[in-house]
Amino acid sequence: MKIGFIGVGNMGGPMCRNIIRNTNHEVVVFDVNAAAAEACTALGAAMGESVAAVAAACDVVFTSLAMPAVVEAVALGPDGIAAHARPGSTYIDLSTNSPATARKLRAAMAARGVAMLEAPVSGGVTGAEAGTITIMVGGDAATFEAQRPLLASFSGGVVHVGEVGMGSVAKLVNNMLAFCNMAAAAEGLMLGAAAGIDLDKLQQVVMSSSGASWAFRSLAAKAFAGDFKAGFALDLAYKDLRLSQELAEEVGLPGLVAPQVVALLRMARAQGLGASDMSAMIKVYEGIMDRDTRAP
Ligand code: NAD
Repeated sequence: MKIGFIGVGNMGGPMCRNIIRNTNHEVVVFDVNAAAAEACTALGAAMGESVAAVAAACDVVFTSLAMPAVVEAVALGPDGIAAHARPGSTYIDLSTNSPATARKLRAAMAARGVAMLEAPVSGGVTGAEAGTITIMVGGDAATFEAQRPLLASFSGGVVHVGEVGMGSVAKLVNNMLAFCNMAAAAEGLMLGAAAGIDLDKLQQVVMSSSGASWAFRSLAAKAFAGDFKAGFALDLAYKDLRLSQELAEEVGLPGLVAPQVVALLRMARAQGLGASDMSAMIKVYEGIMDRDTRAP
């Protein structure tokens, strides 16, 4: 098969390289950042000329793009995938979007005779590099089964969660939990710091007690080192959390916890931390309390 990959950044890059390494498919890449594309052509992918050219040439086209507006432009614009893909081909979006966006993309693709899967991923850049990410797939069963081996070539677990829309629901719920847990971890770590406890000891206790979480471990490691270089950018966390709150509004869920975390992330962005790792949310507390949370 000929596989197109559009958007080979922090996540798309390693996922695409794993397809190149782990399958015999021909791969064509396109990214507005030439250096990102070259990291894939160096492994044997062909350089695509444009979104339209990649869509027209391929049996399966992936996108992994940061913001929903970019996904819509690339998928639905006049020079986009829907306008140029071959009837009978399949479009797979690996980005995190709202269920409504995923359904809109599916309708536009269906009008062109193109099948679609929404396939948001979890596991971060490390998981994308190691090929251990989880992929939560929304789409019809036949399209899913046809693409399962390709998805498995760069994933540790592929779960078919339902029709298009349900992949986004799974992803937004997961990320809402991760970010709310991390906000609780930031508040807890600062509470301990302000009360004067040895932060290494606090971490040791929490991680072997009922307060333990992936978010606490991850936040403490970044905070102790004072290293907030983006793995998962705070701007992306803000985008995902807002999408989860749009969904909450749509279904009538009275959000009590997540809206507070949206506000925390908004404060962090106002402090210029949007491009930092999401764990930089602790810096809001550090600013308010005028102290840091580095480990001695
Ligand atoms: P990124 O910004 O690193 O990658 C996006 C890539 O798309 C960039 O290389 C950019 O140059 C390219 N691009 C932008 N506009 C384009 C266009 N018009 N045509 C072609 N290429 C274009 O973002 P990322 O961190 O890889 O995130 C991608 C998606 O994956 C997002 O939806 C994000 O929420 C999701 N996600 C990210 C992580 C993570 O840890 N970074 C984890 C899980 C899910």
